[in-house]
Amino acid sequence: MTTASPNASPLAASAADFSQLPLTPAMLANLQQLGYLSMTAIQAASLPAALLGKDIIAQAKTGSGKTAAFALTLLANLNPRRFAVQTLVLCPTRELADQVTTEIRRLARAEDNIKVVTLCGGVPLRGQLATLEHGAHIVVGTPGRIMDHLERQSLQLDALNTLVLDEADRMLDMGFFDDIVKVARQCPKDRQTLLFSATYPEGIAKLAAQFMRDPVTVTVEAQHAGGQIEQRWYQVKDNERLHAVSQLLLHFRPASTLAFCNTKAQCRDLVAVLQAQGMSALALFGELEQRERDQVLVRFANKSCSVLVATDVAARGLDIASLAAVINVDVTPDPEVHIHRIGRTGRAGESGLALNLASMNEMGSVGKIEQLQGRESEWHELAELVPTGKGPLMPPMVTLHIQGGRKEKIRPGDVLGALTADLGYTREQVGKINVNDWSTYVAVDRAIAEQVASRLNDGRIKGKSVKVRVLAD
Ligand code: ADP
Ligand code: MG
Repeated sequence: MTTASPNASPLAASAADFSQLPLTPAMLANLQQLGYLSMTAIQAASLPAALLGKDIIAQAKTGSGKTAAFALTLLANLNPRRFAVQTLVLCPTRELADQVTTEIRRLARAEDNIKVVTLCGGVPLRGQLATLEHGAHIVVGTPGRIMDHLERQSLQLDALNTLVLDEADRMLDMGFFDDIVKVARQCPKDRQTLLFSATYPEGIAKLAAQFMRDPVTVTVEAQHAGGQIEQRWYQVKDNERLHAVSQLLLHFRPASTLAFCNTKAQCRDLVAVLQAQGMSALALFGELEQRERDQVLVRFANKSCSVLVATDVAARGLDIASLAAVINVDVTPDPEVHIHRIGRTGRAGESGLALNLASMNEMGSVGKIEQLQGRESEWHELAELVPTGKGPLMPPMVTLHIQGGRKEKIRPGDVLGALTADLGYTREQVGKINVNDWSTYVAVDRAIAEQVASRLNDGRIKGKSVKVRVLAD
């Protein structure tokens, strides 16, 4: 897998000019008319390889112009005189499919008579069958409905040359993994596959491994508005480093913290130190079993663990919406990695806190980071760190593990119903509910966790008795 990772600095005007691309004069004129005067960053990063026929995994935030990136590619692959479905675009929802259809139609104006059809659920099949009988060049739809048409053989994909997965992260969230794989299997092997996503959760790599060919990965990082992330540096001796982490936590009391270590051993040691002080900390490192890893992530995301301690490799693909703080326990020797680490806090306009510990022999790496960021570090004294608030740092929730999941037909609503309608708890006392194949996790208010667990153990979910236990560190 090749990685092209243009940084977010504005590209030179010439490099982002559409005329650099192998597009027809009619298409270039149309782009001008649409007011697309230069390529957006993700377009500039993906189009050159995409127009060479490469499989692409492209990640960029919403609103960055991903639709045109794949639309220009699929249109370049299209032969309008061949009246058969040559492109299939899978989208998570009907609204998104409609938006994509509109954008493809606008970009297709340069060519005569390109027919784009939208196939989504929630609409009678009959009309869609009639439309398909009239033929189409491009089909845009949701995975479920596309599967229906493939099963009825009302949609033929043997002439397909381009498969697009748009908003792949959302499709995975919605449980479309298996459907996507099934649809991809029915497409000709000799085709181009383009995958677009706003985030890069782990499932994407799994999906890509199933049916993409040597994909080029392009990522356009959201530029970190430096001002939104407050960075503080503390000089430590190596033997005070782990204790300094707990000082930071007790002083700043962030609701959720991701702490980066350079090694697995350091992760283990830090978790042991924090747990010994009664803090709720969990480690995430490479060799955890998938089930353990899932459990750690669920507990961190549902607010029943305050500190997640991870190596860079383990944290890859983690997509956690709001992190109050990032702690760099060790300074990374790679300044780009530092930018990446701290960029996990202060997202979406929220302010973030990046706390960094550095020993004398890490000052070289600190210098490289200052160079890349173009500013000097702000140093503080460990002595400033006095515990604030009361008692240990405790997350608001506790996770209960329920044996049984999707395979037993348990749905989130069943769990919520058992807790609220049956046992009389309020909606506010119940947090996130994650239903996996064989197990379910529900976050509940820390104060009632033990009681809820024992009452659920005596009660029922969906008429069946269940085994429930509290997940403690
Ligand atoms: P994404 O899929 O990344 O969320 P969209 O493809 O929906 O983003 O594009 C966001 C907006 O940017 C759309 O209104 C689109 O018309 C516009 N747009 C896309 N490419 C360009 C461009 N090169 N120049 C100007 N506007 C563009
Ligand atoms: Mg989009």
